[in-house]
Amino acid sequence: MILVTGGAGYIGSHTVINLLNANKKVVIFDNLENGHLETVETLKKIGNVEFIKGDLRNIEDIEKVFKSYKIDAVVHFAAFALVGESVENPGKYYRNNTFGTLNLLDTMIKFNVKKIVFSSTCATYGEPQYTPIDEKHPQSPINPYGTSKLMVEMIMRDYDRAYGLKSIKLRYFNVAGCDNQTRVGEWHEPETHLIPNILKSAIGKEKIFKIFGDDYDTPDGTCIRDYVNVEDLAQAHRLALEYLETENKSDVFNLGTEKGDSVKNIFDVCEKVLNKKIAKEVVERRPGDPAMLFANANKAKTILGWKPARTIEDSVSSAYKWELKNKNFCN
Ligand code: UDP
Repeated sequence: MILVTGGAGYIGSHTVINLLNANKKVVIFDNLENGHLETVETLKKIGNVEFIKGDLRNIEDIEKVFKSYKIDAVVHFAAFALVGESVENPGKYYRNNTFGTLNLLDTMIKFNVKKIVFSSTCATYGEPQYTPIDEKHPQSPINPYGTSKLMVEMIMRDYDRAYGLKSIKLRYFNVAGCDNQTRVGEWHEPETHLIPNILKSAIGKEKIFKIFGDDYDTPDGTCIRDYVNVEDLAQAHRLALEYLETENKSDVFNLGTEKGDSVKNIFDVCEKVLNKKIAKEVVERRPGDPAMLFANANKAKTILGWKPARTIEDSVSSAYKWELKNKNFCN
């Protein structure tokens, strides 16, 4: 049985589908603060999924999972992930993302479970000193979200030394798109991300799409990011799990497409895929946005055999179907 914490959320739910497709049994642990019960119900219809509602900050909640099921390995997503909120309320991030993970790791050791795939982030690098960013790039996060994740990476290193806990840390860049059958998708409340925001303007759920600054030091003046498709990302988690099973070694991998797209590029792709004009305006920069972030993901390709297969057009197209499907019930 694989324990997926945060399996009712965006990337977690796509990874659950990928694991079910590989005939794995899954138990989801989620406090449903950002995840959705509807998502769990959808996943239960797809395959062998159990669900326990609980919170990482309560060690009794986690112990209940390990007492109820024979867990072979953990894929750990559950976390808060809004950079701006982490600056305003750092304690929330350290308590949940860092201390909560410590509870999880201690419980794993107690129940002799020693394999974990961890959802880390390119935010652990901070302002890039060079691009594309590889795994050797210095880690100097510029916000508590990034720091809360970096602290976990360091704790995992120490738990490997002390207890032989093997961990794969996956540092994601930007994530986009949804399940090609639109069973699950990106469902954040409030939504802050680029592609859903453009699409919400296109279908009239938001008035006008706002570009946060066009005076950056990039070719068209807007920020450049690396948008990896969520189904490709889910596949990387399965490969990481299989790597842990066969190699039993800790490691870290960047996950990105190695291609930078500017905000304007993404906007143009959306207009092209939807075949319609979308209202936009340029506003002030959003605080804390670096001009350019994109990955060198060569290590994941060579060691894990990961092959990101979907294009940005695929991501926009699936995300659009999801927005249309959910136009009336989620924000
Ligand atoms: N962005 C934007 N308008 C929006 C949302 C995002 O211009 O409504 C920009 C944002 O400033 C950043 C890029 O799009 O340069 C990606 O932002 P997102 O929040 O999707 O991901 P992040 O890079 O913060 O993880």
